[in-house]
Amino acid sequence: MSRLRAASPGDVPEDVAQHLATCERCQERVLFGPVRRQRPRREMPPMPSSTRALVLLALMAAVIVVFFVTLQTLIRRL
Ligand SMILES: [Zn+2]
Repeated sequence: MSRLRAASPGDVPEDVAQHLATCERCQERVLFGPVRRQRPRREMPPMPSSTRALVLLALMAAVIVVFFVTLQTLIRRL
């Protein structure tokens, strides 16, 4: 890997290039850097998912109501 980093583009040592052509792991490391393949697990949500769904639903309903009130107000002004 360090040899590849040191080499300029188009001037990679042949053995390194050959290895890279066949090694998926090294390809990923070259493309994405030395990151772990698996993403770190997300933290658990603070609320249970059903509560979150209800809150989201209420929020969407409120946005829809606001939208129609605004629309009505605009239509009245015409
Ligand atoms: Zn490799």
